[in-house]
Amino acid sequence: MIMKNNDIHAAANHTFAVAKTDINREKNRNISTKSDISESKSFKKTNRNVKDVRCPAAGKCGGCDWLGRPYEKQLADKKKLVADLLKPYCRLEGIIPMETPYFYRNKVHAVFDRDRRGAVIAGTYEKNSHRVVAVEKCLIEDEKAGEIIRTIRDLCKSFQIRIYDEDSGYGLLRHVLVRAGHTSGQYLVVLVLSSPILPDKNNFIKALRKAHPEITSVVINVNDRRTSMILGEKEQVIYGKGYIEDTLCGKTFRISPKSFYQVNPVQTQKLYQKAIEYADFRGNERIVDAYCGIDTIGIVASDHVKEVIGVELNKDAVRDARVNARINCVRNISFYENDAGQLLTQMAQQKAKVDAVILDPPRSGSDEAFLSSVIQIAPAKVVYISCNPVTLARDLEYLTKRGYRAMRACAVDMFPQTAEHVEACVLLEKAGKAQPGRRGTVDRADGGMPART
Ligand code: SAH
Repeated sequence: MIMKNNDIHAAANHTFAVAKTDINREKNRNISTKSDISESKSFKKTNRNVKDVRCPAAGKCGGCDWLGRPYEKQLADKKKLVADLLKPYCRLEGIIPMETPYFYRNKVHAVFDRDRRGAVIAGTYEKNSHRVVAVEKCLIEDEKAGEIIRTIRDLCKSFQIRIYDEDSGYGLLRHVLVRAGHTSGQYLVVLVLSSPILPDKNNFIKALRKAHPEITSVVINVNDRRTSMILGEKEQVIYGKGYIEDTLCGKTFRISPKSFYQVNPVQTQKLYQKAIEYADFRGNERIVDAYCGIDTIGIVASDHVKEVIGVELNKDAVRDARVNARINCVRNISFYENDAGQLLTQMAQQKAKVDAVILDPPRSGSDEAFLSSVIQIAPAKVVYISCNPVTLARDLEYLTKRGYRAMRACAVDMFPQTAEHVEACVLLEKAGKAQPGRRGTVDRADGGMPART
């Protein structure tokens, strides 16, 4: 269920010395400029229970490789991993832990199959194989989402829904994806089928909603290809609006089945608060939010700056981003559906003025087109949010060799119980560059921006 990354895995497998862990006091959920990396008694209490945690699928599913390892040790190990990688550039201030490090995943995927006796099972692929392991209760996934999946599994029998067979290509139901709105309590169910026709669909929805009135939308996604990709191209909304909404840092976001949305909303808020704290905006800046997804960061930052330019490659995410700006009445924002490196290159050629760049690239990190354009545009600040400290360190090497200094860095535990993922946020400043003046820096009518696509 959790994507692997060999780089991180190799690094995480080093023997770690147990360091004193920085622990967060999870009091302040709003934007704060105070450091939130400190001791917390309630966290320690939660942590004592970790030893008792058992998962029947442990060792097979491969999702939570660190389940059973004391949470304080997990944090110490992740902190050391990031601190070691960032050491040549910056001291790591600490790692922000999750107070209750369970049931956090708001996106739950289950693959459907039949066991040896022919009973329908829902779960995950066994580590490094295509065998399905039944998952009765997952300790890191949203609990209600898990219950919805088990109800669908049980309904398959009464509705005579045939389970897709990967070998023969026969059968209808392949996967179920559930997205949960952490604050809104809305649930979106995506039924991934091999054909667009779900027999007795209205009664199926009725039965499902009777068991789970919290379901606000059901979508059929058609995946008729023999592929390991979960979602196919075609979608049909069969109940509700076809998306859910959720709230982060006081802003509302629309999330479609295919848009990227951070899977741990509790920790995401802390990450964004840290990014805003590091950026220390004065209100007159023009900023770029690169790799913006549905533009959660840009919309949260929009209250603190004069203008935000969002750039994102995925067209569904850009569509959601535009809607999200409207929902939140944000008018100082514009979006480019483009490769971030390509847009920045054009901006550099047109001598666009930018005061700060926030970037949150995928695990592969940024690229030379993007980073070299940042050097040319020369914003006073760069806030780099990363889900892979290995590529973060690589990109810091590039920027710090070309006039930027890494000033502050912290890690955020976005994926407790897993060895794979640790998020980090780094503030870089252009050596010798002063804060922008009162007038801001936008001095051309078009601000040096290319035409929007
Ligand atoms: N900042 C967002 C999304 C981060 S995930 C958030 O916090 O929710 C990384 C995003 O980068 C994804 O939405 C992905 O679609 C996008 N992406 C990947 N490669 C890209 C590229 N070359 N140019 C622009 N966006 C890209």
